[in-house]
Amino acid sequence: MPFEQTLQCRTKDQPGCPKSYSHQIKEHQRRRLTAVSWRTLTEGLVSRMVDRLMNTEINTQRIVAVENCFGATGQPLVLHGRVLVGEGLLTKVCRKKPKPRMFFLFNDILVYGSIIIHKKKYTSQQIIPLEDVSVEDLPDNDSLKNQWMIKTSRKSFVVCAATRPEKEDWMKHINKCIKQLLEKTGKAPSTEHAAPWIPDKMTEICMRCTQKKFNTLIRRHHCRNCGFVVCHSCSKHKFLMPKLSSKPLRVCTLCYNNLMEEKDKISTLERKADEITDLNDDEGDDKSSDDEKEELGQEPLFLTDLSWSSFHT
Ligand SMILES: [Zn+2]
Ligand SMILES: [Zn+2]
Repeated sequence: MPFEQTLQCRTKDQPGCPKSYSHQIKEHQRRRLTAVSWRTLTEGLVSRMVDRLMNTEINTQRIVAVENCFGATGQPLVLHGRVLVGEGLLTKVCRKKPKPRMFFLFNDILVYGSIIIHKKKYTSQQIIPLEDVSVEDLPDNDSLKNQWMIKTSRKSFVVCAATRPEKEDWMKHINKCIKQLLEKTGKAPSTEHAAPWIPDKMTEICMRCTQKKFNTLIRRHHCRNCGFVVCHSCSKHKFLMPKLSSKPLRVCTLCYNNLMEEKDKISTLERKADEITDLNDDEGDDKSSDDEKEELGQEPLFLTDLSWSSFHT
């Protein structure tokens, strides 16, 4: 059962759920819709659906439609082998308050944006490669229902679906797309992820010193490492976290101390390893080793997958 058909049976009464392109489906196809819902699809069916849609005209049309909604503010999305798996309205828990966002799940990326006119104009496009994504189930609380977390190395955030089945659908489909993608690329699942920002409204006092009460003069800041809401005095330091940004970012005092400690440990280990290498070097290499040691002594080492030069720019 094609994806666009299987979805159709749920979209009428559940406006928030992932929607299909019903206008593109002919009437005789629509009559076959009622039997299966998205969430009853097995992994094999999702995989077959992706294979079937890949490089088809209808799939391209759908992706072009998404591209058009973002207009000049968005990136080109049509790509050979890319399939639009589903889309829907989710509530994204933002810093100030939860906001509606339109999400598009492709077989390799997750795209979302702000809604100007639903199905016509979206803006502030965000594209997240799925191989960097993991999802974490979250229990309901007093203010947020049907929530889960989308975690990536650069940014993690909480989203809510309108109903529990929709949430399950989203989580299941995202997980299946990630699994298939990783199987294809042979990459390991993403394990490191950025801390989600605690929404402003969750606390009236600094979450580190627990003394300062926020008001118009004492402003809220977010630690980029732990995501806590903290006062200015508790977040005076900045720290370079290459996975998040090429520039040093605000961190709370506790995180700063921990990160510095970690950095020192790595520097010491690297220096020791370097000294052992020096001892094992031939005499003729002494000069170059010394030069290298001097360089390392001047610049603290920090393990990163970025090149050394980009760490310092
Ligand atoms: Zn504080
Ligand atoms: Zn922190």
